[in-house]
Amino acid sequence: MTVLDLADKRSTKIKQPLLEVDSLKTYYPIRSGLFSKSKSYIKAVDDVSLSLYEGETIGLVGESGCGKSTIGRSIIRLEDSFSGRILFQNEDITHYSQRQLKPVRTRMQMIFQDPYASLNPKMRIYDALAEPLIIHKLVNPSEVEREVDHLLHLVGLSRTARDRYPHEFSGGQRQRIGIARAISFKPKLIVCDEPVSALDVSIQAQILNLLQDLQDELKLTYLFIAHGIGAVKQISTKVAVMYVGKIVEIAPTDQLFRKPKHPYTQLLLNAYPQPDPTLRSKKKLLIQGDVPSPANPPQGCRFHTRCPYVQERCRREEPDISKDQHAVACHFPLA
Ligand code: SF4
Repeated sequence: MTVLDLADKRSTKIKQPLLEVDSLKTYYPIRSGLFSKSKSYIKAVDDVSLSLYEGETIGLVGESGCGKSTIGRSIIRLEDSFSGRILFQNEDITHYSQRQLKPVRTRMQMIFQDPYASLNPKMRIYDALAEPLIIHKLVNPSEVEREVDHLLHLVGLSRTARDRYPHEFSGGQRQRIGIARAISFKPKLIVCDEPVSALDVSIQAQILNLLQDLQDELKLTYLFIAHGIGAVKQISTKVAVMYVGKIVEIAPTDQLFRKPKHPYTQLLLNAYPQPDPTLRSKKKLLIQGDVPSPANPPQGCRFHTRCPYVQERCRREEPDISKDQHAVACHFPLA
């Protein structure tokens, strides 16, 4: 163990995670008929644990339907979990009622892929930003107007935006408004659910830069959900890779991109466009086949039906995730 590892361990021991998710399961029952008492489930999130420290960004990646958005929604308690625990600022919020959640929700916010859906089309931007400030008494009534201007300034919009309606803005500008509304609550944690997936590449970069600037300025912590691995690489301090409801690898961003240990991560990275032209021509393995259904995941390792390194043991035995800093759930991790 190096001196750095020791220092890292010590600081982790001292610091309490802002968010701790422990063995979280979010299942949806499947009913096969009107009178059926069937107990089968879609296991959208299946035994997921992670810790998020203040100021960190964990990027959550995986193909569509892997459960990454469900984790975000479960953490923010927009979905009820089947079992497990969610500790936020050392408070167990897993089974909080709506009333108990009210004060917690100002401290944890969500940014959505489609901000238009979360904005009232009939509400001027001033009212959309002033509403949470007034309802939650986040500032004195006399300071609301100044605070709205400050929020617009923070997200790079001019004061003239106040009197316009959501449909008058571009997708990137609307995402800035969505971010302004989220930070108006002065949250500690923001779950960013694919916030740049629907935007053009140049606009994506602007929004990612904005999120990073706000993180520094407002001491924010992010859970950043995306299927585009490029965005996750830019913004995350750690990356967690999900496959059919489970985290299969989690590591500091540099380590994961430099030396992925899980075959699924390797194939995801291979599919990512390579900026270095000398590396582009190298023939790489690409991911084949479809994602299995979370209602009926494969026995043993869930990735065995698509893994180029599959062995007999993989079909029988489900691998546990290791406990080290670069954690992986694979019987034969890549060297
Ligand atoms: Fe592939 Fe086996 Fe590792 Fe699963 S456990 S990822 S099938 S090598």
